[in-house]
Amino acid sequence: MKILISNDDGFQAPGIVALHDALKTLAGVEVEVVAPEHNNSAKSNALTLHSPLYVHRASNGFRYVNGTPADCVHIALTGLLGYRPDLVVSGINNGANMGDDTIYSGTVGAAMEGYLFGIPAIAFSQVDKGWGELEAAAAKAREIVAQMYVQRLIGETPWLLNVNIPNMPLQSMRPIRMCRLGRRHAAERVIVQESPRGEAMYWIGGAGPAKDDGEGTDFHATTMGHVSITPLKVDLTDHESLAHWAQAASLIIAGAATAPAM
Ligand code: MN
Repeated sequence: MKILISNDDGFQAPGIVALHDALKTLAGVEVEVVAPEHNNSAKSNALTLHSPLYVHRASNGFRYVNGTPADCVHIALTGLLGYRPDLVVSGINNGANMGDDTIYSGTVGAAMEGYLFGIPAIAFSQVDKGWGELEAAAAKAREIVAQMYVQRLIGETPWLLNVNIPNMPLQSMRPIRMCRLGRRHAAERVIVQESPRGEAMYWIGGAGPAKDDGEGTDFHATTMGHVSITPLKVDLTDHESLAHWAQAASLIIAGAATAPAM
């Protein structure tokens, strides 16, 4: 099995080093790292279209790119690797990617890029920032990948899983639990400071606290000490409201044909 590893915290982040070192010990597995040169958290699926990308190799063999997480996976899959990996993994991220975090997450974006190319993909994140119990998280990620391989879940059918691992020793961690995404409140206020030259500087505020962290959500499961796994899809269509909007569309069409514009 060939595994492509990327992340959004950058190729020097402890999380990707731990993930690489854990996965490379799996028997019959080859791992390669292509990751951003710098921290690209919250870059989602962004691709760099208006400047060139350069690939360099670090002394530990990791390749790094002056681009986004999706750039890394994209160029890896479209020519850099020269083969098609069986699995794309991303992380381990420095902090949770739960609820609406998944929309912004570069960790999820890297995995999603693999999924869009038809390859099974997993995004791994630690719930708390700061890399506490990182070895345990890497061991848990290794266990999940190993079991998926053994249970023949890694094959021709692409899927995308979002995994959040609580920061705790392996023996205290509770089993994996399949979850839906929760929701957060609207983000905190923008932070305004004055630059040394007297200009206002705006810093994006933190993601808000959980709004929907009820039973069945990733927030709830990880608070209880479980490893949460959410299968993600890319189709953003609001299927439930399609009928409502079809009705609204007929009103708009009929109104435009008969009533004068306001
Ligand atoms: Mn990150």
